[in-house]
Amino acid sequence: MKSGRLFNKVAVVAGGASGIGEATCRAFAREGLVGLVIADINRKAGEALAKEIAAPGCPVTFERIDAANEADWSQLAPRVFERYGRVDILVNCAGIGGPLVRPTVENTEEDAWDRTFAVNAKGALFGMKHFIPVMRSCGGGSIVNVSSVYAIVGPRFATSYAASKGACRALSRTAAIQYAAENIRVNTVLPGYVNTPMTRDIHNQPEVRQQRLAETPMGRFAEPEEIALGLLYLASDEASFVTGAELVIDGGMTAR
Ligand code: NAP
Repeated sequence: MKSGRLFNKVAVVAGGASGIGEATCRAFAREGLVGLVIADINRKAGEALAKEIAAPGCPVTFERIDAANEADWSQLAPRVFERYGRVDILVNCAGIGGPLVRPTVENTEEDAWDRTFAVNAKGALFGMKHFIPVMRSCGGGSIVNVSSVYAIVGPRFATSYAASKGACRALSRTAAIQYAAENIRVNTVLPGYVNTPMTRDIHNQPEVRQQRLAETPMGRFAEPEEIALGLLYLASDEASFVTGAELVIDGGMTAR
């Protein structure tokens, strides 16, 4: 008989094709889901992952979306509902980092700021905006938004990234308050430094690597699975009285 921490649920993971989102899809797929949707801009990686982790009783589909594009979300939500008949979990993990988001305040260009906010903050808004009505029609749901410790501590670089993650954090709390009475929980995960394709280049620079390791009391970077397990808890019914919470998974970085 089928069982698991997400037994009988349907989940949508935006940004699910790579890194933390990929690890989340892998962790979720083992927990009794009856449907998993990987929604990502990266078709090649997303389709390959969907094929790999699909299991009997748990179909996994890939949907190509640009999280910054509201029309993609407004079309995705009814499509998922039509296919699976319900949606219980939404993870907003799509995000951008890299050189675009890194300049200091006085070197930040408007276009870079706008694109960073479009994906990292507006993406979570659109995801919630279009999936909350579906969850309401199913009697409730669980949303987990992926922010960052940079919403708590100010980095020396990454101006637009940190600001966008701060917006994502505040947005999560706001949604948590607005929908708590409807049994739609909204929580935030705030990872510290994680080994993913997003950070590969930067963590390969010895100086940055050393600085980031020094900022992390545990003296290492997280693996994506260590973040995914926090997402799994918040997504599951084990967290049935948890909403508006912020789960920091950072090897002690913000405890300093
Ligand atoms: P990642 O490996 O680059 O994965 C992000 C995924 O999102 C990729 O598949 C990416 O596609 C996709 N994506 C990018 N823009 C998108 C868009 N507009 N629409 C839909 N999908 C899009 O990065 P990650 O490190 O796992 O990051 C996942 C989340 O955790 C992000 O929100 C990030 O800000 C956050 N985070 C990461 C760290 C860290 O140290 N890695 C720390 C704190 C928070 P492409 O591959 O085509 O870009």
